[in-house]
Amino acid sequence: MTKVLVLGGRFGGLTAAYTLKRLAQRSLDVKLLNESRFTYFRPGLPHVAVGYRDASELSVDLKEALPSKGIQFQQGKVLKVDAKANSVLYRDQLGNEREELYDYLVIGIGAHLATEAVKGWDQYGYSVCEADFATKLWERLRNFQGGTITIGSGPFYQGKQPRPKVPENFVPAADSACEGPVFELSLMLTGYFKSKGMLSKVKMTVYSPGEYLSDLSPASRKTVAEMYKGMGIELVHNFRIKEIREKEVVSEDGKTLESDLSILLPPYAGNPALKNSTPDLIDDGGFVPTDLNMTSLKYDNVYAVGDANSATVPKLGYLAVQTGRIAAQHLASRLGIRTKVDTYAPTIVCVADDPYEGFAVGVKDDTWYGGTTSIAQPSNVNHLKKELFTKYFMWTKGDMALEKFLGSW
Ligand SMILES: Cc1cc2nc3c(=O)[nH]c(=O)nc-3n(C[C@H](O)[C@H](O)[C@H](O)COP(=O)(O)OP(=O)(O)OC[C@H]3O[C@@H](n4cnc5c(N)ncnc54)[C@H](O)[C@@H]3O)c2cc1C
Repeated sequence: MTKVLVLGGRFGGLTAAYTLKRLAQRSLDVKLLNESRFTYFRPGLPHVAVGYRDASELSVDLKEALPSKGIQFQQGKVLKVDAKANSVLYRDQLGNEREELYDYLVIGIGAHLATEAVKGWDQYGYSVCEADFATKLWERLRNFQGGTITIGSGPFYQGKQPRPKVPENFVPAADSACEGPVFELSLMLTGYFKSKGMLSKVKMTVYSPGEYLSDLSPASRKTVAEMYKGMGIELVHNFRIKEIREKEVVSEDGKTLESDLSILLPPYAGNPALKNSTPDLIDDGGFVPTDLNMTSLKYDNVYAVGDANSATVPKLGYLAVQTGRIAAQHLASRLGIRTKVDTYAPTIVCVADDPYEGFAVGVKDDTWYGGTTSIAQPSNVNHLKKELFTKYFMWTKGDMALEKFLGSW
């Protein structure tokens, strides 16, 4: 039987695996390999960091979820892909190196959070990108008595060559890989401190390695800047973080921002497993360039989805799901299964939630790609949408099949 190996068990990989299995039923052998047995609903991790949820509420056990839908699961850390030999080398949970062969490969192992690029990270850095980071931040926050807080993202080490074979305007050059969570945290921390009666004891600064939220329209950015003025949040553009010290953060060009609590979305770089792989599979940043069907430019039995694909900018769950679905539909149709193949249409769709005040800003924007849609709408309903999205992901164990009916993320 034709064997499809999927690497990575979050938005991109899970969507590809579930969609393929749904389309192909018993005619395909689908196996998913993920570093950990458990995967977490990432858009809910900021909520863990502010004590609104516990990380355990957001965890999916892949070892149970996948076999129940006819997908095999293997726990293991991918070390490299040998695209010429149709082989993946990985280390299993016992520390043994193993090889897995495939007929078709879907790469969805995301990007690398390059915390090592920020001096002082281990001692003074806090984040929300993984469950353990978010839990550690909550431990710090619950004892926080007031002071200065910085929130920002590190630089994005985006690949440049070879470019993916998609329209030029689909892949803008980006200073940051993902600033939505920075915006969301600035809202939810405000709500959190208000609920504790502590807001007057906190001074928040938000920084960006380029122009903040450059993936949104100028009108939406202006609205955010005005919101921040009203909230007393200082906004600093072009601050490329290099170091975190006990009481400040330092940029590459030597500027400093006072910071008792330094929250960072780490720099994004290519996944080390891909950097170790067949060289012409990846671009000069370690991301996989593909065409619009998510097929590798060099190896037509290899697909790349989500954050690992060089075409997805910014690194967004909405785009990971879209690319995962397209890869699965395209592969299924190549294998003779009648199905439509969706057209890739990059759009920024996300919801920045403030659960303590019961509202969220729903964003839908494609102006960065040359479109005309630009919505940034604060409302109580958008908070409910985020709740629904969270419950939906947990209920389906990461199968985003009905995602378009959620209306907005
Ligand atoms: C805090 C935060 C909040 C976010 N909120 C939103 C939001 O509200 N809406 C939205 O659209 N986007 C959001 N995003 C972005 C979104 O989470 C990512 O774009 C999305 O998770 C990418 O999915 P992916 O499957 O491509 O990669 P990832 O989510 O990075 O998943 C990759 C998977 O592969 C595994 N893996 C990695 N390396 C290896 C290896 N070597 N071997 C085996 N397995 C490996 C990982 O453990 C993981 O399970 C958020 C991001 C962050 C950091």
